[in-house]
Amino acid sequence: MKRIKRVFYNVLDLDDQPIYISTNDNTIIAIGKMTSFDIKQYANFEQYNFFNKAYVSSGWIDIHTHCYEKQSLYTDDPDEIGVRQGVTTVIDAGSVGADAVDDFYHCKDKYQTKVYCWLNVAKIGIPFQGELLDLNNIDEKLISQKLHQYPDFIVGLKVRMSKSVVGVNELQPLIKTIKIQQNNNLVPVMIHIGNGPPNINDILALTGNNVIITHAYNGKSNRIFQKDPLTIGYLNAALQRGLKLDVGHGSESFSFAPFKWALAHKYVPDFISSDIYQKNRWDGPVYSLANVLSKMLYFGLSLKEIIAKVTIDPATFLGFSHCGKLAVNYQADLTFFEINQVDILATEGMQQKQGQTIKLTKEIKPVMCVVKTNIIHLGERKYGKNK
Ligand SMILES: [Zn+2]
Repeated sequence: MKRIKRVFYNVLDLDDQPIYISTNDNTIIAIGKMTSFDIKQYANFEQYNFFNKAYVSSGWIDIHTHCYEKQSLYTDDPDEIGVRQGVTTVIDAGSVGADAVDDFYHCKDKYQTKVYCWLNVAKIGIPFQGELLDLNNIDEKLISQKLHQYPDFIVGLKVRMSKSVVGVNELQPLIKTIKIQQNNNLVPVMIHIGNGPPNINDILALTGNNVIITHAYNGKSNRIFQKDPLTIGYLNAALQRGLKLDVGHGSESFSFAPFKWALAHKYVPDFISSDIYQKNRWDGPVYSLANVLSKMLYFGLSLKEIIAKVTIDPATFLGFSHCGKLAVNYQADLTFFEINQVDILATEGMQQKQGQTIKLTKEIKPVMCVVKTNIIHLGERKYGKNK
């Protein structure tokens, strides 16, 4: 079978150094500084010249999305929120539970984007708000069976711990989930937080190793940051036990004031995710993972930090092998992006829809990506193949 050999050159790394990367099918075979580049060696390669106007990173990974197309409440087409936005891997966060995971697994390969899932501990997934109002929806035996069946598809368990989801069951779903985690080799768990009860302090008290809290910077009254020193005490203890914090922007789960407060007190997110689905992609305030990353630039995170939180950090945490890094023998998942001067207003994700706005002056804009050996051009084709 014919191999697809490519070389991408005059492209910037995250230290602003011009580099080249060559690939053979799905694998990176060489990477180096332009000072040591000799185009004559690549005569039989597809060649892509970026004229030192774009950056390259390993392909972006969004650990909190909704993209099981047969679920109607929160969903999107994996390629619309994936490769069409420069994101090479999307992870659905609990749209699906044990009941529909077989079907989701069989759908995943029809997309150009790599698709994974957090399995909702409720077997029904999220067909409506309130999948944990009935504790019978948590079937430990069925969950263990699906974890064994799809180790390369299910990255962990999702449990949504807010009032509209758990009702009078309050902490019970989380207590059960942590028990299931312990009985299943400490599989990663993603906890969604929001309105209480359950109280955020009680949730934090139950979390520890291999647990991610998503929507960590929400501005609801039951939030973590810029609220109560007691909550910060619970948070610090949980972080000591290994808790990770994820942005999970969403429609109403990322607020500027608590985020600024958190950064000022060194509670930097471990991961940056979008919680994107059709409605908040079309109408905002999410629009795209890139838009969320641009907000991170505004708040002072460095480009290197930001990109690590959507590449190597999630890849390492989730055990994706040979993924998340630009290095020889790693997978050739690549995202190419520009950083453009802009003048646009961005809003936070707030419950009452009257969120604050900030003025972005720099925008991270994906222009091309590569995954599963496909080249995906985004918007205007500036850096096409030149033969
Ligand atoms: Zn979500």
